[in-house]
Amino acid sequence: MAASTTRRRPPRREPGTGTTTTDRVYGWQDDPGESLPAAVPAELRPVPDLSLAPLRMRIQAAQPPASGAYQLGTPEFRYWSAAEALARGAAFWRQFLPAGTTWQPGAELLVLLDEGEDFNAYYDRQALNFFHGTAGGRTVYSGESPDIVCHEQGHGVLDALRPELFDAGSIEAAAFHESFADICAILAALQLQSLRTAIVTDTGGNLSRSSRLSRLAEQLGWAIRQISRDAVDPDCLRNAVNSFFYHSPEELPTSGPATALSSEPHSFSRVFTGAFFEALAGGFRQAAAPTEADLHKVSVDLAKLLAAAVQAAPVVPEFFSQVAAALLAADASSGGRYRDVLTSAFVRRGILSTHAAVGMAAVQATMALVAAPPGGAATVPSRELPHLALSGAEFGLGDVPLLVRAASEPRRLVTAAAAIGVGSISAPSSERAARAFVEDLIQRGQIDAGDHGEIPGWIVHPHTFKTHRLVKSENGFLLSRRLFDCGFRAHVMG
Ligand SMILES: [Zn+2]
Repeated sequence: MAASTTRRRPPRREPGTGTTTTDRVYGWQDDPGESLPAAVPAELRPVPDLSLAPLRMRIQAAQPPASGAYQLGTPEFRYWSAAEALARGAAFWRQFLPAGTTWQPGAELLVLLDEGEDFNAYYDRQALNFFHGTAGGRTVYSGESPDIVCHEQGHGVLDALRPELFDAGSIEAAAFHESFADICAILAALQLQSLRTAIVTDTGGNLSRSSRLSRLAEQLGWAIRQISRDAVDPDCLRNAVNSFFYHSPEELPTSGPATALSSEPHSFSRVFTGAFFEALAGGFRQAAAPTEADLHKVSVDLAKLLAAAVQAAPVVPEFFSQVAAALLAADASSGGRYRDVLTSAFVRRGILSTHAAVGMAAVQATMALVAAPPGGAATVPSRELPHLALSGAEFGLGDVPLLVRAASEPRRLVTAAAAIGVGSISAPSSERAARAFVEDLIQRGQIDAGDHGEIPGWIVHPHTFKTHRLVKSENGFLLSRRLFDCGFRAHVMG
C-alpha cells in the first residue's frame, strides 16, 4: 500500500447506455489493502480470457456478467478483477510448463468466488475456493485480492508440476507448497508494468526493502488482525522481506505468533520465500541502472529456473535445500547468470549450509546435468510417493497402522541446511519426517477422522479446520490431504 500511488475510484458503469467500453475491465494493481478508498489503483485492462489452454479456468456463475468497467464493490467488479488476476497468472506460468501439463483436476480448473462466510481461501484439487468475512465493520472478499487469487492458483500450478507433493508426509514439502504459492503471487504481480514502475520508484531500486510487492494480502491480513492480533504480520498476511533463518522444522513449535518461526507450513514457508525474494532483489540489482524492464526480465528468468527446479528436486525431508540446489543446477545449465545471488540468498537463510554450497560450486559442471531442461521436457509421469506404515498406537489408532506417503525419493545431489551452530544439519529420515508431520497435524487438530471418530484413543478436536482425513483401507488408515488453505480460520469448523 504505497501512499505515492494515485487514488482513483472506477466510474459507475451505465448498463444499456452504450457509453461503456466493454473491451476493458478493472483489475487491481495489487492487493487493495486496508484503507478506504483503496490506496492502490484499479486499472482498466483488456478483457481477460480464461479459456486458453493449458491452465484453462472457469469462474462458476449462473450468468457471468458481461465484460465492462463496473463500480468498485460490486459483484461484477469482483468477478472481472479476479478473472484478470487469474488470467495473468495462468498466462505467466503457461510459458514454463512442459508440454502436456494440465491441472490435476483436468483441463479446466473451477473457481468458486464466494463460498460463504470465512476468512479463508483454499485449493482442494477440485477448485479454487474463496470466501468473505466481516471484521472492523468491513466485509472483505478473499477472491478480490490478486495476491490471494494468485496464491491459490499457485497451489494448482505446483500440483500440476509435482503432484506427489500434495500428499507428501513432510513439513518442508507442505511449507514449500505455501512458499511456491506466495512466490506465484509476487511473480504474477510483476507481470504488470504499472506495478513494476511503482515498485522501482517506491523502493528506490532496492527490492530488499519492504514494499507492496513483498507484502502479501494486506487486506485479509488487516481483517484477521481485527480478530487475532498476533496471527499475522503488522501490515499484511505475510511479508517476503523477512529475516527468518532455517531451523529444522521437527524441532520447532507446532504453532506460534507471526513474529516467530513455527513448523506450521505457512509460518515455515517464509524462510524459503524470503530467500527467493532476496535472490530476486539481487538479480534485479545486477543490471547497471535497473529499470522496470530489468525487473520484468528477472521475474521471468527466475520463474523459469523455479519451474525447472521443482520438477527436478527429489521429494525428501530436506526439500528446501534440494530445491535450492536444483535452482542452482538449472541456472548453471543456462549460463550461471544468477549463481551468486542464488547461492548468497540460500546460504544467508541457512537453506544451504556453507559446506553444501561450497560442494556445489565444485561440481558446477555436473550440476547442469541433473537439472530438467526448463520448459522443454515432456511431462514427468505422475510418481506417487510410497506409503510408509507408522505404528498407529502412538497416534491413538490402536493396532491399525497409519499409512503416510513418505518423502523418500532417491537423491541425486547431497545437500544440507545449515546448523544453528557449526556445519550442516543431518536431514531426518523419511520416517522421522513423516512422524513429525503427523504429530503436528494431530496437535493442530487438522485431521478429520470422519466416521472413524469413535476410535478409542483418537484425540478429537471438535472445532478445528481439517486439512487432512483418515481413509480406511485394507492395510490401515491412509492419511490423505483434503486441501491447502491460506492459513487462518476465524470461523472454526467441525
Ligand atoms: Zn496456501
